[in-house]
Amino acid sequence: MMLIPTHHFRDIERKPEYLQPEKCVPPPHPGPVGTMWFIRDGCGIACAIVTWFLVLYAEFVVLFVMLIPSRDYVYSVINGIVFNLLAFLALASHCRAMLTDPGAVPKGNATKEFIESLQLKPGQVVYKCPKCCSIKPDRAHHCSVCKRCIRKMDHHCPWVNNCVGENNQKYFVLFTMYIALISLHALIMVGFHFLHCFEEDWTKCSSFSPPTTVILLILLCFEGLLFLIFTSVMFGTQVHSICTDETGIERLKRKHQPRERRASWKSVKETFGGDFSPNWFNPFSRPCDPEPLSDGDWVRQVASLSDMGNTETTEEQSEERKDEDSVEVIDE
Ligand SMILES: [Zn+2]
Ligand SMILES: [Zn+2]
Repeated sequence: MMLIPTHHFRDIERKPEYLQPEKCVPPPHPGPVGTMWFIRDGCGIACAIVTWFLVLYAEFVVLFVMLIPSRDYVYSVINGIVFNLLAFLALASHCRAMLTDPGAVPKGNATKEFIESLQLKPGQVVYKCPKCCSIKPDRAHHCSVCKRCIRKMDHHCPWVNNCVGENNQKYFVLFTMYIALISLHALIMVGFHFLHCFEEDWTKCSSFSPPTTVILLILLCFEGLLFLIFTSVMFGTQVHSICTDETGIERLKRKHQPRERRASWKSVKETFGGDFSPNWFNPFSRPCDPEPLSDGDWVRQVASLSDMGNTETTEEQSEERKDEDSVEVIDE
């Protein structure tokens, strides 16, 4: 059990109404097990549709402006297969990242009965999220878009219309990687196409008129460059997060809450699903199942009970910690 430094409690708001567990009732319709996870957020849905549209635009230009009109059959077939395979893997990773439960904590489990069943000992506390009435295990955070507490939440990504958390980080990493790869591939092909067209007659190098061809290619160039930079930075950040076993939120709060980390290779294997294999790159292969939460995972230890005595202070700064946790203390 990790010890939480005492200053951590300064950003806890201890509102009396949060300390009444009976106020937390499980949602009336928890939904059958296995229901599809999908966040109904207008902005996120729009961003996800734009992502698909941009990939399909790249597909269109690569196929109908560059590869199909080309007279080099081998060049077209090889590049066509590689580009389509990468685009398919990118879109499949996108769907998996969007439709996978990122690790939501059961909603409304902060009931009086449940907290009593944990039999808290002196010095033990549970963190209750006042927004979704759930008990927060260590490293879980409340997402205001998903309206749920998410285990090992990294950030909420509108481009995949979902939180990036314990269960879908693999798909998100693959999504950024495949988008970076198709962007790079498209840029290389545009480069070759321009060279080819300057050498040959412009009217022969595309089935579209030369001005249309140039506009379509320049737009693809712009899109490719933008996405190559954006997704490779994101990919690097995510891999770094996984290797250091530290989520984006935890990195922001590092100064306030030092914590133990796991060995980097273990963290990488857990995220991608076991020992290194081609399945690491397969968006259809699931990552390791997270260990089911035991009673001990809900409970956290405080260094000293006296530190809990005056937690009336409101949250200090803490941009991301707007979710005013409340704390349940058993004080004998
Ligand atoms: Zn919550
Ligand atoms: Zn979210």
